[in-house]
Amino acid sequence: MTKSLAILGSTGSIGVQSLDVCRKCGYSVKALTAFSSTDTIEAQAREFRPEVVALVDEKAAADLKIKLADTDIKVLSGVEGVCECASLESADTVLNSVVGMAGLKPTLTAIQAKKKIALANKETLVAGGQLVFSEAEKYGVDILPVDSEHSAIFQCLQGKPANKALKKIILTASGGPFFGKTRDELKSVTVENALKHPNWAMGAKITIDSATMMNKGLELIEAVWLFSVKPEDIDIVVHRESIVHSAVEYTDNSVIAQLGVPDMRIPIQYALTYPERYESPVEELNLAQIGKLTFFEPDYNTFGCINLCKRAISMGRLYPAAVNSANEQANLMFRQGKIGFLDIAKRVERVFESVPEFDSYTLDDVMEIDKLSREIVRGD
Ligand code: MG
Repeated sequence: MTKSLAILGSTGSIGVQSLDVCRKCGYSVKALTAFSSTDTIEAQAREFRPEVVALVDEKAAADLKIKLADTDIKVLSGVEGVCECASLESADTVLNSVVGMAGLKPTLTAIQAKKKIALANKETLVAGGQLVFSEAEKYGVDILPVDSEHSAIFQCLQGKPANKALKKIILTASGGPFFGKTRDELKSVTVENALKHPNWAMGAKITIDSATMMNKGLELIEAVWLFSVKPEDIDIVVHRESIVHSAVEYTDNSVIAQLGVPDMRIPIQYALTYPERYESPVEELNLAQIGKLTFFEPDYNTFGCINLCKRAISMGRLYPAAVNSANEQANLMFRQGKIGFLDIAKRVERVFESVPEFDSYTLDDVMEIDKLSREIVRGD
């Protein structure tokens, strides 16, 4: 069980909710990091009094240093600063809620420093699953999922990630704001439309990934790594109410699901308290009030991103990293109004031709494919 934490990406949606869990459970916070949100991280630092804080952006870090000059909190900058927080001696657990594959290097640093990892940064596993799990094995480190679906699967597996009796994973998807829409209807949807998620309040990047259903494709890859299953042993089912957070089917066809109101503080807290369970501030699930739960096949033709992810993980090697980085770029360009909604999948698909056929790869290879994939998506 966690006693002291370093929280990477503390000003984002998961970071803020993680601090809420720390407040309620009385965990001590030793380090906080963010990209550039000086005001939010200053307020967090004043409340939680960590030893050290880091901002990736150098200028923002210089501003923060001035703001925190009256305290004894150390202020660091750059990716190196974040990695220093990830390997801080006084923290036993690193909660990584960085957005995007930028979280990969800090995750590897934390593993090498033998920290327990509470992982909310799915792109870490999509881009570098092979690296992360070979390092985790080498250093004897546990990786606990924070993503709600993967926390559900972990709970259904009763703490045995590679459960021999597991036949299939049933990964639930909300379907996002565009469930039931045709490709024609999706041609002209705006960023504002895409940012209106029916059930979950999340950051902008993941909300767009949820609208394209790329998020479910990335989560399928994440599940392959976390639970040592084949991609074809994962079924995706659309479940509009987001009450069943995922399920597993055992060899005897018994299905076990995890349910709860859609609130990220449950999976965050479980990753920190595991194997114990603590009381939670989250409201109780009232099934009679909900009345009914519905399930549908995903529309793979309209939401092409899921199949791109399936293809990438089946091809293995650096393909998932390439698709992930291409998506980070295309998602950003859509939010900037530079491309249309349906262009996201089209641009991501472009990278398949350019992935080198390495059987194993290093962090440098991932960084290189990241750069190349972004260039291909931008068209430069
Ligand atoms: Mg999720």
